[in-house]
Amino acid sequence: MKVDKTVDTISKRLRSQNMSRIRSKNTAPEILVRSVLHRMGFRFRLHDKTLPGCPDIVLKRWKTVVLVNGCFWHRHKNCRYAYVPKTRIAFWNKKFAGNMKRDAENVKALKRLGWKVKIVWECELRNTAGLESRLHKLRL
Ligand SMILES: [Zn+2]
Repeated sequence: MKVDKTVDTISKRLRSQNMSRIRSKNTAPEILVRSVLHRMGFRFRLHDKTLPGCPDIVLKRWKTVVLVNGCFWHRHKNCRYAYVPKTRIAFWNKKFAGNMKRDAENVKALKRLGWKVKIVWECELRNTAGLESRLHKLRL
């Protein structure tokens, strides 16, 4: 049946996205963002495999996903944590390019599905007060 085939193709694609997922789950920064959001009264789902890139935090009511990005792996621009290791430079550059491409594709796909995408960088979590006011803007 044609419909079944389509469903299977979609699930295969999602599976491969999940396999290639660079984002590790339940990191300390992610847990911190979750607890701040929770305290602010937001309700959310975690690691939604049905969405592109399996986003960390999904606020369905606000049609918003929050991605908690590690500065190193996700290449935070002009951030001192996004350094390039001194050895195997070609290897790292290739890896980083792949990560950034995948991130961009996931954000694009999420937006196409009508989701707002908020990125919280690991280095921003050093100031929790700042974080709370930043997350408040999600309500807009
Ligand atoms: Zn950073």
